[in-house]
Amino acid sequence: MAEQKVVKTFRIMRYNPDTDTQPSFKDYQLECSPMERVLTALNRIKWEQDGSVSYRRSCGHAVCGSCGMTIQGASRLACKTLVKDIDGDVIIVEPLKGFPVVKDLVVDMEHFFHKYRAIIPFFHSESPKPVKERLQSPEEQVHIDDPAKCILCGCCTSSCPSYWKNDDYLGPAALLKAWRFVADSRDESAAERLSAVNGENGLWRCHLIFNCMEACPKEIDIPAALSKLKRAVIWGGPR
Ligand code: SF4
Repeated sequence: MAEQKVVKTFRIMRYNPDTDTQPSFKDYQLECSPMERVLTALNRIKWEQDGSVSYRRSCGHAVCGSCGMTIQGASRLACKTLVKDIDGDVIIVEPLKGFPVVKDLVVDMEHFFHKYRAIIPFFHSESPKPVKERLQSPEEQVHIDDPAKCILCGCCTSSCPSYWKNDDYLGPAALLKAWRFVADSRDESAAERLSAVNGENGLWRCHLIFNCMEACPKEIDIPAALSKLKRAVIWGGPR
């Protein structure tokens, strides 16, 4: 049986800093399959209707984290959101909330990555290098399995009311990455990292609102990780 097509209106927020004083919405009608991804629909709008629509995309498979945007009011990956996931005939697409807009759906991620760099987001050890690799037991690895899934899409930080109120707050993505390394049995920089997250705009700005968990396309339990990070700050290390 032929697949039932639906006609949807994609209401896309447009903003060109060279010509516009403020953002405005523009509607595009598209016949699509309910199983079509919003990213595919955006591609067709760009390629078939209006080449000036700007957004980021790369892998198209929820691996690179490039296509984070606000779809029907929620932070999501366009490549992981199906047309049938959105109720109604109008699909509203906006840039990630809380990030400065560069053009249309493209946001400036520099402030986001500035916070990320602040938590020392790389493995560090002064111990002598092993001949082959630094081994970790399955029991040790289980602590980093979930936080290591992060693809840095920014959806969690963009959906966090604490971040909307204070964009100097490190935000859930940077804090999750801090926990990923603090919890890593092979890493030896826990003290520096715990100090980096314990400042005025650090971990204690997290009030466990849980928006981050709903937004995360990798279904990472961010509130649980941040709660463990809080305990590690109090205890002076992971336990
Ligand atoms: Fe994206 Fe989830 Fe990583 Fe946040 S924790 S940046 S929502 S993958």
